[in-house]
Amino acid sequence: MKLLAITLFFALCFSTLSFSPKIQASKKIIIDLQPFDDLPKEYLNYVHTELKKMYSDVEIKGSIALPKHAWYAPRKRYRADSLISYLSKRTPVGHLTIGLTTKDISTTNGNIKDWGIMGLGYCPGKSCIASSFRLNKGNKLLQLFKVSIHELGHTQGIPHCPQKTCYMQDAEGKNKTDTEVGFCDKCKKVLVKAGWALK
Ligand SMILES: [Zn+2]
Ligand SMILES: [Zn+2]
Repeated sequence: MKLLAITLFFALCFSTLSFSPKIQASKKIIIDLQPFDDLPKEYLNYVHTELKKMYSDVEIKGSIALPKHAWYAPRKRYRADSLISYLSKRTPVGHLTIGLTTKDISTTNGNIKDWGIMGLGYCPGKSCIASSFRLNKGNKLLQLFKVSIHELGHTQGIPHCPQKTCYMQDAEGKNKTDTEVGFCDKCKKVLVKAGWALK
């Protein structure tokens, strides 16, 4: 009986050792943090530090100018969809880009041609964008991180989530980030598969 237990233990160890490196090496992408040149270093460093706690392969890119073609003059803000396609073109295979800016961004939402938003990411997608413009002054850095993680979640194929405490809840045009505490178990599962270190 004892022998069987030991044999089983070794068998388990062996299979764990031989399989885990393969799982980790499979198609884990690199997240590129792309600041636009209006973004304070402090904002970038905060999002980077928090994101690194959940995902190991994060790289900070040198800051770039906001592309002129994304400017929407009638509302004096940038079109988020244009920014995303601009970032996607610059994103190499095996990478995923999140753009960060303090400028106001917008997209078309149903009948509303130009609707101001906090962030945008296609589901799934190669790049996304988060803006601090609509966030609360006293809590801006944490909220920017939550918007970033929400948009990154979309790029990984996660749709909106009904849980109010989950990062993937639908903002429905408001800033609801303060009720969010993490990913719910359902959303977490998708990200763990993609190599996120979530407990
Ligand atoms: Zn969303
Ligand atoms: Zn969720």
